[in-house]
Amino acid sequence: MNILNKKNNQITFSAELDESLANAIRRYVNKIPVLAIDEVEISKNDSPLYDETIVHRLGLIPLKMNKLSEKGGEKLTLVTNREGIVYSGDIKGKIKPVYDKIPITVLKKGQELEIVATTKASEGSEHSKFSPGLMFYRNLMKIKIDKDCPKEVVNACPLKLFKTEGGKISVVDENKCDMCEACVDLCRKMGKKSIELIPTEELAVTVESFGQISEGDIFKEAIDVLKEDLEEVAKKISK
Ligand code: SF4
Repeated sequence: MNILNKKNNQITFSAELDESLANAIRRYVNKIPVLAIDEVEISKNDSPLYDETIVHRLGLIPLKMNKLSEKGGEKLTLVTNREGIVYSGDIKGKIKPVYDKIPITVLKKGQELEIVATTKASEGSEHSKFSPGLMFYRNLMKIKIDKDCPKEVVNACPLKLFKTEGGKISVVDENKCDMCEACVDLCRKMGKKSIELIPTEELAVTVESFGQISEGDIFKEAIDVLKEDLEEVAKKISK
């Protein structure tokens, strides 16, 4: 396993992983319980948005989780009469939003907003507001280049993966190839079959977190929940 790319809230790694197993782990990302605002009482809303729209927006604000086993039930308040945009950072309570600058609504001078919300922990399979992030994967490619490869492919690749050295075309980093096939199409248009993309046994897996828990925890937890379900099935079968 190798880390191919790591940036804020996202990691991409390569692994020799069966596609069906990778897909099962991907599906179990939405089985990890995370926190979101679930019940909302609005006692004042002078803003131009309907109560229902504000409730919807509040539900989609990712909330920081101090531990994976948070159960929810915390009260949060949003009370303001400040003129201008009301942001997620205006929500007060023990649980904090992951991002402070998510706009909720807007108030004019003299307008007020008074809201009490209650959090709940649940799964993305119940509602997408409980989704901790995304996971997707693709095959890593071996790129075979024939000697007659036209030099135009260097500019055809949107990811700039080709280079020429001494008139010879080579690949800078095969692991970054996203199989767009622009290079293959260009060769085809020129009546050549100079480039062949060969899928390897390895997958490039990307996990992206919405911020409630880390991308590493998403992958580990998805595996743990999948294991628990499989053990349950095994127990039932052996009865
Ligand atoms: S398939 Fe697309 S990304 Fe991969 S090398 Fe060819 S042009 Fe570049």
